[in-house]
Parts: sequence; structure tokens; C-alpha cells
Amino acid sequence: MNDYQPVTIAPDVTIGGETVYLMAGPCSVESYEQTAVIATTLVKAGIKIMRGGAFKPRTSPHSFQGLGVEGLEILRDVADQHGLLVITEALAVEHVPLVAEYTDIIQIGSRNMQHYPLLWRVGELDKPVLLKRGFMSTVAEWLQAAEHIASRGNRRIILCERGIRTFETATRNTLDTNAIALLKQMSPYPVIADPSHATGRAGLVLPAARAAIAAGADGLLVEFHPDPTAALSDGEQSLPLDMLPLFVESVRGVATAVGRSFV
Ligand code: PEP
Ligand code: MN
Repeated sequence: MNDYQPVTIAPDVTIGGETVYLMAGPCSVESYEQTAVIATTLVKAGIKIMRGGAFKPRTSPHSFQGLGVEGLEILRDVADQHGLLVITEALAVEHVPLVAEYTDIIQIGSRNMQHYPLLWRVGELDKPVLLKRGFMSTVAEWLQAAEHIASRGNRRIILCERGIRTFETATRNTLDTNAIALLKQMSPYPVIADPSHATGRAGLVLPAARAAIAAGADGLLVEFHPDPTAALSDGEQSLPLDMLPLFVESVRGVATAVGRSFV
């Protein structure tokens, strides 16, 4: 493993060490109340990092595009009140300074993995970056995208396998557990998995999460919603919030089996 470097997010939270971290929350930040209810549940389950999109990369321009700056404000405010860390996506180069101000980890989405000016911009910051795999990108292209960030000085990079497009249509994407195991052997960066976008089906998220941890993932990014049927985005792959304790317990079983702890 060449120059392997865990990424420290806060004094007590390091991704890529012995502990496997769950980053959980809604696909999109929808309201203050929704976010607060999720934060309360995360804290009760011992989770440290809340996810939530404010600027959303939607395939259709007619779908909900996120609350934008208001979403960032809600996320930060709720997180601070509950002592949580935050991950959210920067969709555009011009949003990077603003997003960086509100978040603890900047997410680069799958559709933007090869948006080089965006990679250069986050590469200029001293802020952890979660780089999602392009859904039609090879491992080599993904690592070169990471290199674009690192070449500007920022080496606080976490890779996220979020499923790739294959001939299979029964699931939204195909979780590439090979890539997780491979990158853990040959990349300098921690690797996490997003079983929500990788499967697109709520019923598959837990088994895919367990598989990712067994393959060596350092963390998970998972969509939870208080009422998935009413979600403004990705309801079909969001787990009901009341399943969180069971989810944590089940994933922890696999983490323990591979010699790691899970929070
Ligand atoms: C997300 O995590 O909210 C998201 C849009 O994922 P992806 O970029 O992997 O599609
Ligand atoms: Mn989503």
C-alpha cells in the first residue's frame, strides 16, 4: 500500500483507520424538521456524520434540484446543535467556497468525477473530499481523477464506490466490490461504499452494505428518510429512519467479523 493516508475529519473521527464509519441521512435536505428528526436518530445510534444534498445533480431538470444555500444552512445548523459532522455535495466550481464553509467533507458526485475544474478547485482547499466513482468510469480513471485533486495540494481524499452501469437492469447500478478490495490493496486513499445508489432498491441496501464492509470498505454512505414514500428524491432506495438501529447492528456484525469497529 503506497503512502496510505487515513483522512482525519475531526479529532475523534478518522476515515480509513480501524473504525468503519456510517455517513447517513437523506438524499436531499428537504426541511429543517426532516433534518432535525434524522439528526436526533443518528445521535441516538452513535453515528457521527450526517449526509444530505443541498445542491442536487438530478438526471431530469424537472426533478427537485435541492434547497441550495437554504439546505446548507439547515444542514450546518442542525448538525451543530447535535454535535454531528456533515457531508454534502459541491455541484459547481463557483459553489465550492460556499459549500466548504458549511460542510466538513465535500462530496464530488458521480456525474462530476471527471469535471476537472471542479476537482482542481477542491484540490486547492485543505478540506476532506469524498470522490464518488463515475458510474461509467474505470478504476484507473477514478484514480486519475483523485490525482487531479491531489496534484493541487489536497491529499485528504476518500474514494466512494457507488455502483457502476452494467448490462444488468434489475438494479439501478452494480456494486463493484472487486474495486473496493482492489483499491484497498493499491490506492493510498480510504475507500467507502454507497449501497443506496449502487442498488437503487431499499431492500438491497443492507446486504450490499454488509458485502462492502466484508470487501474492506472503510465506511458507508447511506440514504435514510423519515418517510421514504414522501421523499423528494431517491425514496425508492432510502431506508426508513426507524430501521437505523437494526441496520447499524447488522453491519456491525460484519465489521466485527473482519476485525473492525463500526460507528
Ligand atoms: C448523492 O449521493 O446524493 C448522489 C447524487 O450520488 P451520485 O453522485 O453517486 O449519483
Ligand atoms: Mn440520492
